[in-house]
Amino acid sequence: MQIYADNAATTKMSRTAIEAMLPYMDQVYGNPSSLYSIGQKAKEALENARERCAKCLNADPRGIFFTSGGSEADNQALVSAAMLGEKKGKKHLISSAFEHHAILHTLKKLEKQGFEVTLLPVHENGVVRVEEVAEAIRPDTCLVSIMAANNELGTLQPVKEIGALCRERGVLFHTDAVQAAGHVKIDVEDMNIDMLSISAHKFHGPKGVGLLYAKRGIFLTNIIEGGAQERGKRAGTENIPGIMGMTAALEEACARLEDYTKRLTPLRDRLIAGLDRIPYGELNGDREKRLPGTVNFCFEGIEGESLLLLLDDKGISASSGSACTSGSLDPSHVLLAIGRPHEVAHGSLRLSLGDDITEEEVDYLITSVTEVVDYLRRMSPFWRDLVSGKRKHVFEA
Ligand SMILES: *Cc1c(COP(=O)(O)O)cnc(C)c1O
Repeated sequence: MQIYADNAATTKMSRTAIEAMLPYMDQVYGNPSSLYSIGQKAKEALENARERCAKCLNADPRGIFFTSGGSEADNQALVSAAMLGEKKGKKHLISSAFEHHAILHTLKKLEKQGFEVTLLPVHENGVVRVEEVAEAIRPDTCLVSIMAANNELGTLQPVKEIGALCRERGVLFHTDAVQAAGHVKIDVEDMNIDMLSISAHKFHGPKGVGLLYAKRGIFLTNIIEGGAQERGKRAGTENIPGIMGMTAALEEACARLEDYTKRLTPLRDRLIAGLDRIPYGELNGDREKRLPGTVNFCFEGIEGESLLLLLDDKGISASSGSACTSGSLDPSHVLLAIGRPHEVAHGSLRLSLGDDITEEEVDYLITSVTEVVDYLRRMSPFWRDLVSGKRKHVFEA
């Protein structure tokens, strides 16, 4: 059996998205800034895509800025808010300890430039507490940035409540919705969102394209300088095929959201229940407040990397930590943020299901993980110490 269970890292492109791109590669290939008709046709497609993306998010199309993906959108959102804040003498930003590195590394850079950053704790359940956001807001706070769904755990954050709080306190609110868009409903009006980042390849669109939404009146700072594309806020010839693919993928994902949730949630819960039966292992993050397809576990006495390789032998593509951190020896900052000790954080497994997964495949995932965990433990000297009582267990049997 071949199971791709790493949809949080990236997704397979949908047929609809691929077909939406094709005409813009060899037919309507003009530069949208050119005045002849093949250019103007591309320009029309671009503006039409902007409106369609805006509609999916219930946003004003004038607030949609196409980018090269989630990372760029995150960078631009934070830098813009910081620059706006600085003009008013507000140099404090609030975010959380388990954000994506596109957020955390940008915040580090801003800190070096004299900004102050508060990273809120995310607690054992991997959820930010609204009352802690409220306590952290100061008169000099210029931005709150909290992700809509965490990429490693899949936990959903109280975005709407945080947004309402920020509105009330007059602070800008950005959300990295890269994992959430196309997987749970996003409505920037209803959820009080001022800025939002999404990325096409996380919802069956192409890689290398995303968008930043910024509410009207928010002055963006350029990350990429050059031509006057994207209302002068993002230079570079527009990635028309990518944008068309993203638009088709977003519409498709949003249209099937209800069915997707209904179908995937019980399969996710079946997977959780199955993996729960493995002794000395625990689900990471809240049981209910999570994306319909994402599951993350820690198992004592194993190495995530060996687990992945053996699962690959069984035809399963999974992840340990996030795609960006696997390959490094440091345990995931997300697992440390929810209080997992180092030795356990190394033994993590993320399975992010695709919407075409079947019950049989879920059962195959459960059996395979159970077998591989058992096999690795039998070979592990670390596990032997746990069994003999030389070392203390972190989890219960
Ligand atoms: C994937 C991801 C990003 C980065 O998006 P890219 O398009 O790959 O740059 C940012 N934030 C989160 C939460 C993600 O999952």
